[in-house]
Amino acid sequence: MTAGLKGLKYFVRTFGCQMNENDSEHIAGVLEREGAAAAGRPEDADIIVVNTCAVREKSEEKLRSYLGRLASLKKRRGVLVGVAGCVAQLARGDLLKKRPFIDFVIGPANYAELPQVLALAAEKPGVRTQWSPEWQEFGAETAVRASRVSAFVPIMEGCDNFCSYCVVPFTRGREKSRPSSSILREVRSLAAEGFQEIQLLGQNVNSYRDPEKARSFSALLEEVCAVEGLDWVRFLTSHPKDFGDDIIRTLARRPEACRQIHLPLQSGSSRVLERMNRGYSREGYLALASRLQERLPGILLSTDVIVGFPGESEEDFERTCDVLRRVRFANIFSFRYSPRPLTAAAKLPDDVPLEVKRRRLIALQDLQRSIQIEINRSFVGREVRVLCLGPSVKGGGRFAGRSEGGQIVNFEAAGDPVGRFVDVRVTGCGPYSLHGTSGPADCTPRRFPI
Ligand code: SF4
Repeated sequence: MTAGLKGLKYFVRTFGCQMNENDSEHIAGVLEREGAAAAGRPEDADIIVVNTCAVREKSEEKLRSYLGRLASLKKRRGVLVGVAGCVAQLARGDLLKKRPFIDFVIGPANYAELPQVLALAAEKPGVRTQWSPEWQEFGAETAVRASRVSAFVPIMEGCDNFCSYCVVPFTRGREKSRPSSSILREVRSLAAEGFQEIQLLGQNVNSYRDPEKARSFSALLEEVCAVEGLDWVRFLTSHPKDFGDDIIRTLARRPEACRQIHLPLQSGSSRVLERMNRGYSREGYLALASRLQERLPGILLSTDVIVGFPGESEEDFERTCDVLRRVRFANIFSFRYSPRPLTAAAKLPDDVPLEVKRRRLIALQDLQRSIQIEINRSFVGREVRVLCLGPSVKGGGRFAGRSEGGQIVNFEAAGDPVGRFVDVRVTGCGPYSLHGTSGPADCTPRRFPI
């Protein structure tokens, strides 16, 4: 640790996806390495970093309101305010022009340079958003992890797919895979520290190509699963067009690989998928979902859906609902389309009226809710293996964890099961979670059938 920021307090506010959550853990690690300590709230901090998301208009609206709050905080007291993440990469110097209270803007490829950026920002506002064509390491060993049980491990960043609605290729750049030696070093060290679960992260994990040995994603997954001491391995996000049979074979062979896949659908209409430049058809998606469900019994699938994409008709929308009925996802993330800067779709007329987008979103979510209730009810009366992540936000002395399929399970337990596997007898459910009572925590590593 150096002492450049000794005596100062920092606060990191994160918007967006797991990739951003992981980046924020690394940003906190860089700041602590320099001697800064975490503040519980922005009002107590000397340095505030806002890690932003540009994927949807709604997340940018939330960001605008948060920045407004920081502007008034800055009027009251001296604090360095920085904007990081995807909005930083996209807006760069414009952020400083529009919001002069911001002291620095830093892109996702530049977090290792945060100490230098901070030193300069104390004198004069600055922008550091250089692209990098290669993977940038910035000290996994010092990341300040939000959980002591489940850890994110990034394996690639960026995207070459240019889906017509998506801004990610412009904020995270082209695909860059992390060397497998570095990934495995981090995973082994996390397993040795007692982490039970690893989540491999990337915008498009199944297009991973090891820059050292040209290993594919399935080969990497196999090696990660084989790391001694790890019980569960998950990964996201997968692109349906890159989900080869080799990955399914690895999932079938390795009991550590959780039977849960996030497989973004976006639309159930081939016509819309083509306009989205997704690279698969409705039939291709349904065939992949069936293959996964047949060859990995018990697997739970989740997905992303956009409603109201330019030109989406009622018939197109009905086709999306039909895919939901056929696949029966355990969970979906659904959004109204909003045009994003620089994307191909932003040039198309945004011709689905807002009230129609709203109606379709409500109808889709109602349908999904009823499917989830049916799926969750089928677990009532059964025993489910759960990794306990901590106290439940529901309170009442209960705990919360995740099942292998990714369901949230709130449960009562004797003793302290945090960080352990428990078998929970499911006594009830809602659309978004299961609840029940656990047996004794399992202190020993889980034994898998060969
Ligand atoms: S696959 Fe498409 S939606 Fe996903 S990050 Fe890449 S461009 Fe965006």
